[in-house]
Amino acid sequence: KRKIAVMTSGGDAPGMNGAVRAVVRMAIAKGCDAFCIHEGYDGLVKGGDMIKKTEWDDVRGYLAEGGTLIGTARCAAFRERWGRLKAAKNLIEKGIDALIVCGGDGSLTGADLFRKEWPSLLAELVEKKELTAEQTEGHGNLNIVGLVGSIDNDMCSTDATIGCYSSLHRICDSVDCIADTAQSHQRAFVVEVMGRHCGWLALMSAISTGADFLFIPEVPPARDWKKGMCNIITEHRKMGKRTTIVIVAEGAQDLDLKKISPEDVRKLLAEELGLDTRVTTLGHVQRGGQPCAYDRMLSTLQGADAVNAVLEATPETPSPVISIIENKIVRNPLVQAVQLTQQVADTIARKEFDKALHLRDSEFAE
Ligand code: ATP
Repeated sequence: KRKIAVMTSGGDAPGMNGAVRAVVRMAIAKGCDAFCIHEGYDGLVKGGDMIKKTEWDDVRGYLAEGGTLIGTARCAAFRERWGRLKAAKNLIEKGIDALIVCGGDGSLTGADLFRKEWPSLLAELVEKKELTAEQTEGHGNLNIVGLVGSIDNDMCSTDATIGCYSSLHRICDSVDCIADTAQSHQRAFVVEVMGRHCGWLALMSAISTGADFLFIPEVPPARDWKKGMCNIITEHRKMGKRTTIVIVAEGAQDLDLKKISPEDVRKLLAEELGLDTRVTTLGHVQRGGQPCAYDRMLSTLQGADAVNAVLEATPETPSPVISIIENKIVRNPLVQAVQLTQQVADTIARKEFDKALHLRDSEFAE
């Protein structure tokens, strides 16, 4: 019987539980044994009870739960070869040679490195007599499949990551609440939203709430943005608007890569336009709570396809990441997706903003 393990890693995202549930149940439906690795790579390195055989009923009710019920962690040990040696030993001892990882680009990079090293890790464990040659027999390759779980929607190769739409809904709800106060008092609010180096959450929430102005890392504002922003907001007020909402992505920066701080924007609106202005940092509210319908659907379809990808893999197949492109669940090479994501970040860091935007859409668009 094939043994397939699933884990969540990196920052939690709504929908991760749906992915775990789908993997467990699809694996069982296909005649495999399913295992959950608890607490991300930490659990993989610790082994024992952290790698638990999981039955159909164990994941009942998972679909509607936020966060990740099997836990996640940042794990320094897995970045080291000794940590990956322990992880390989723990998997082989349970007869597992397929691992489905739901996490961000860091987690997926680690997973692919683990796959590349797998044969040499097993050889070293046998040489050190930590495993017998019989134990490793038939497990010469490790199948890795990636699922992108992140609220940031910052991964190339997919139109949406598991969690990003739930987070977007939460931001919209929060801005709607803030707008009530803004409307009542004619106030301005500067709202900082998450997304790390990616402006997707900020951009989509600005569109969805009809914000007055927006700052995102990929498209820094013009050099005279202060004047430009004040003019636009003055115009909006003249048109009878009682509220002002400015959305600032946490990674927002100007053309010189200097961080745009919500506090600076607040001061500007207060001092230049005389608006009673407050800053609201939404923080972790954006990460928690129930997954929206889209994330339940996405995580379920992708989790099920991840199991199919394991069962269809040959030693030559590169590790896939399960994506969604133009509403179709598709598989892309994991390494290529991670490298392209990194390339976009590097291009922005070199201030080649137009090139970065083009890059993000290029490779996987066809
Ligand atoms: P998020 O986008 O939410 O931050 P992430 O998956 O990118 O998620 P990271 O903290 O970068 O989060 O990675 C999670 C874990 O994956 C790390 O704690 C580490 O154990 C493992 N990992 C990350 N990068 C590597 C790497 N290059 N080699 C080995 N393991 C890695």
